[in-house]
Amino acid sequence: MKEKLEALLNTAKAELAQAASEDGVQELRVKYLGKKGEITSVMKGLGALSAEERPAIGALVNTVKAQLEDGIEATLKTVREKAKAAKLAGEKLDVTLPGRRKPLGSKHPITLVTEEIVSIFGALGFAVAEGPEIEHDFYNFEALNFPKDHPARDMQDTFFVGENVLLRTHTSPVQVRTMLKQPPPVRIIAPGTVYRCDSDATHSPMFHQVEGLLVDKGISFGDLKGILTLFTNQLFGKDIGVRLRPSFFPFTEPSAEVDIACVICRGKGCRVCKESGWLEILGAGMVDPEVYRHVGYDSELYSGFAFGMGIERIAMLKYGIADMRLLFENDLRFLKQF
Ligand SMILES: [Zn+2]
Repeated sequence: MKEKLEALLNTAKAELAQAASEDGVQELRVKYLGKKGEITSVMKGLGALSAEERPAIGALVNTVKAQLEDGIEATLKTVREKAKAAKLAGEKLDVTLPGRRKPLGSKHPITLVTEEIVSIFGALGFAVAEGPEIEHDFYNFEALNFPKDHPARDMQDTFFVGENVLLRTHTSPVQVRTMLKQPPPVRIIAPGTVYRCDSDATHSPMFHQVEGLLVDKGISFGDLKGILTLFTNQLFGKDIGVRLRPSFFPFTEPSAEVDIACVICRGKGCRVCKESGWLEILGAGMVDPEVYRHVGYDSELYSGFAFGMGIERIAMLKYGIADMRLLFENDLRFLKQF
């Protein structure tokens, strides 16, 4: 009996030493100490022993049982610690590794240039004005002195939405809407999206313009030239040359095209400026009295000027972009440079 118990204890100890998981240890507890366990069955057999043998064997069984219980608890503790250590090792953090960078977007060159233009005129007291992109013929053409048979009204230039309703072909209707809403003085800058049936390397059916309008008493062509010179100097650099050439627009009289000295060759002549040394960047002029008549301003009392420019063209010149389509293709390799 004594030998049997000792053999049982040794086997149990060997099995415990092999146990690798908490579940494995619990199975051994059931195997030896459970209701149908091996120690339990030995204890049940104690009754068959003689009265002399019983106390000594009983004591031995209790010792073995206690040793097994201690062994099980100790093994449980060990396997739990091992499991915890393994889990921690699996979750190990190297705090010296560089973090994962979240890609950060940047502003589109059109937005950058628009914001710069608005900021330059904002400093001169021009407020931003906006209007709808779907426009009535009256605001887009009629009130701006485009006669009914003017070629700009042609289907080939204008996207018509319905009868007398169209996608605005320029930001000038914002001038009309502003003047109809308020008496002079007016000092606004109107950036926005415009649409024309046109598409190639230098034209897009959707593009952006900034329009400016100043109306007050005693405004002259000299004020226009002064403001535009200041503007081009701020945008392209202090020493950039500016010149005005006579031109024609239905809503201004007199009208002028404004050129700056070529930003590539600084006036010497190159491919970009077609060897002229000059680049056209905007159109301007004194507001035609016919426009004042449509909005109810007294042209004897007030005078003013308007100017407009394509933002894409300014962005292309400022950043040296050769093809306008790059501005609309959303190629990240291009956009990431800004
Ligand atoms: Zn040039």
